[in-house]
Amino acid sequence: MRLSHRVEGLKPSVTVAFGNKAKALKRSGVDVLDFTLGEPDFDTPQPIKQAAIDALLAGQTKYMPTLGDPATRQAIADKFARDNGIPGLTGDHVAISAGGKHSLYVAMQCLLDPPPPGQSPLEVIVPVPGWVSYAPIAELAGARVVELPTLPANDFKITPAQLREAITPRTRLLILNSPSNPCGTMYTEAELRALAAVIADAARSTAPDLVVISDEIYEKIVYGGIPHFSIGSVPEIADRVLTVNGMSKAFAMTGWRVGYAAMPGEFGKRLIGAMATLQGQMTTNITSFVYPAIRAALAECSADADRMRDAFARRADLITRLLAGVPGVRTVRPTGAFYVFPDVSSHFGRTSPAGRRIDSSLALCEALLDEARVAIVPGEDFGGCAKNHVRITFACGEQQIERGVAALGGFLSRLA
Ligand code: PMP
Ligand code: GLU
Repeated sequence: MRLSHRVEGLKPSVTVAFGNKAKALKRSGVDVLDFTLGEPDFDTPQPIKQAAIDALLAGQTKYMPTLGDPATRQAIADKFARDNGIPGLTGDHVAISAGGKHSLYVAMQCLLDPPPPGQSPLEVIVPVPGWVSYAPIAELAGARVVELPTLPANDFKITPAQLREAITPRTRLLILNSPSNPCGTMYTEAELRALAAVIADAARSTAPDLVVISDEIYEKIVYGGIPHFSIGSVPEIADRVLTVNGMSKAFAMTGWRVGYAAMPGEFGKRLIGAMATLQGQMTTNITSFVYPAIRAALAECSADADRMRDAFARRADLITRLLAGVPGVRTVRPTGAFYVFPDVSSHFGRTSPAGRRIDSSLALCEALLDEARVAIVPGEDFGGCAKNHVRITFACGEQQIERGVAALGGFLSRLA
């Protein structure tokens, strides 16, 4: 018997893999300081839970429209208009899926194709370091990923010139993610407008089918003085931007599995319609009694989101300050999301107390977990210069941050 080539060549998600590894160790009684999964440590706010409980008790337990009930799709369209300034959206331009990851998967299946025999593949531009799942999802849809390298000195951001250079007639998609996982950095409004100008230009000439996916799942977790800006609000390109978001991060709802996406205009409606067709053969609607919980979160819980954001801001300060005291670790100050992404490569080439050769980020993370019981994510799969970095999630308490950085510092100081 055989597995498909498609999955045999598929790379597992390193964030999920290290997260599972840390969880398994904890279950077996080992005291692991876990900084792997990007998942708020807060509980879901009460009004959200209550809305789901009420709907469940009222019997909202049957199939519902594939992309969500009209009231919830409209509430999301209203959110995009109100918070993000995205013009011309109706509920028909909105798709609700089982997590932002699912939204991205379904969207890319609807936008990309494998190449016909003898032709070169469509291209998806991904700034790197970038989230580990973008490339596998694009490749599963048959496209080739074109990485645009960025550097810590520029807060891991691409430039308009770099983007202009990268767009070819085969470019079908550009993926942007601000605030960024894993970098914790953000584009300013001016920077996004400059990228939008390049996109508008390319759409008129080289790449008329170019679509932008703007992954804004960390929209509500910003604290560095750069206001969040949605590139989908720029009128010249609004009709070619699919804005993806979800409930996981802003409202501490990772386990609920709710993501959503929207694109205005005629093509937006067609894309969302195609996503409905695909989801109709895939998952149908998300859990029915969750829809009122989405509406409760959007209507009633912005103060809860702000409270959690303030805690992440304090933790960002704390971890940046503590890491600055660890020799050989260079960190860009995060302005959004809940990740720091330090360069640890000055330690490569050394040997751990148990005799492991630390010749990569992966080797460092494995040794750190086995020998110091601190779980962080190796950089390699985030692309580009990320192989010199590790990702540390600070969606955890301040005491854990203090203990974790101390243990990391202790471990690094024992490398020979
Ligand atoms: N985009 C980014 C950048 C992420 O980091 C994540 C997960 N943390 C997602 C999308 C998907 O999140 P979810 O599926 O929980 O909505
Ligand atoms: N996205 C989160 C992370 O990067 C959760 C795991 C995943 O889906 O990648 O940690």
